[in-house]
Amino acid sequence: MKTAYIVSTGTELLLGNTMDTNSEYLSRELSAMGFKVIGRATVGDNRDMIKSALRTGYELADLVVCTGGLGPTLDDLSREAAAEVLNLPLMHSEPEMERIRDYFARRRREMPESNRKQAMFPAGARILANPVGTASGFMVSHNGKTLVMLPGPPREMETIFKESLKPLLRDLIQDSGRVVLTRTIKTMGLGESQVESLLEDVIADPRGCSIALLAKDGEVHIRVTGDGVTDSGTRSILDSVIERMKDSLGDNIYGEGGDTLPGVVVRLLRDKGCTVAFAESCTGGMVAKMLTDIPGSSAVFWGGVVSYSNEAKTRILGVSDETLKRYGAVSPETAREMARGMRNLARSTFGISLTGIAGPEGGTPEKPVGLVYLGMATAEGEETRELRLMGGRGGIRTLAAKTALDWLRRTLERK
Ligand code: AMP
Ligand code: MG
Repeated sequence: MKTAYIVSTGTELLLGNTMDTNSEYLSRELSAMGFKVIGRATVGDNRDMIKSALRTGYELADLVVCTGGLGPTLDDLSREAAAEVLNLPLMHSEPEMERIRDYFARRRREMPESNRKQAMFPAGARILANPVGTASGFMVSHNGKTLVMLPGPPREMETIFKESLKPLLRDLIQDSGRVVLTRTIKTMGLGESQVESLLEDVIADPRGCSIALLAKDGEVHIRVTGDGVTDSGTRSILDSVIERMKDSLGDNIYGEGGDTLPGVVVRLLRDKGCTVAFAESCTGGMVAKMLTDIPGSSAVFWGGVVSYSNEAKTRILGVSDETLKRYGAVSPETAREMARGMRNLARSTFGISLTGIAGPEGGTPEKPVGLVYLGMATAEGEETRELRLMGGRGGIRTLAAKTALDWLRRTLERK
């Protein structure tokens, strides 16, 4: 397997002012392509530190990808550092100079003198043109090793990566004569150890594939990587391992690859010709946010009510005073009436409610922080579910919202 090393530069990254999203992006993309990312370094705008990081990467890995420091200002030093590490002189590229001049001309701006240096590249480098900014990247391959330099602004870095670098890296991988393929399946509602024990048999006999579990916000993602000589051979081994996992995990799996839980819910609602409305108390509109993040959700999501106060629960949703007094706002009875009221108001296929104690205060021995009730109203009547969630306020709310979506997903899949 070809190895890769990632270097991100910028003093703002070391100060913690800017999140190093470039490294995360590159880690994800390179791994998905079949590189084994063996290390990452973050250094400030310091020539010696950049050189040392590039040297380390160049020594250890087949591919080094570095971001940042290709701008026109004095603290942009990556170009010079790369040339020194490669021991190559920087040469002027007239086509690049032309492109940068044109960039400014189209914006009716004068090109500052400092931008000239952005047309300088190590001799023999392959220029990775920047269609959305002035700083183009470049790539140098020598003795089976490849160094790639990309600009820091994430949009520019990602555009160059997708449009020009990815095809070149693909060639690099293909030349190595190995095919590495990855598939990820995603589950919701099970803990990491539960997934692991359900997959016991597959994990014990992965047919040469490597299996990695990643748990996040109530989801467990299972990434399977296969490494073989031919594309079809690798694919069929990978497929057979995934099939066995599907048998073991059943409808705990909500999707694969780039699927998201809200995205899958919207798709299922559309496929089954259903609509939904949410009455949210403890989640304060998080479910509505998750659904409206999905383009096209307007066809299936009626809308919702943030019924946070008791008054909102009675006046908007018609929850009875008697129910609230007798059982409290966080109770299956209230959840049931909220869901019914929501469905009646929206005239949707589903009315779903959430009411719970997100904390940190407000818990009692009988009703602890993390206790959440969900209600689901359909033409057949109402059902409720009790959840006992762990975590901080944010975590409990996110888990409650996602569990409600997942309940809807499972219901739709059975329809
Ligand atoms: P540079 O190309 O180093 O001049 O970076 C320009 C801008 O891109 C910086 O001010 C940051 O806002 C952003 N940037 C640079 N490196 C990163 C990174 N690793 N992750 C996210 N943003 C970055
Ligand atoms: Mg910088």
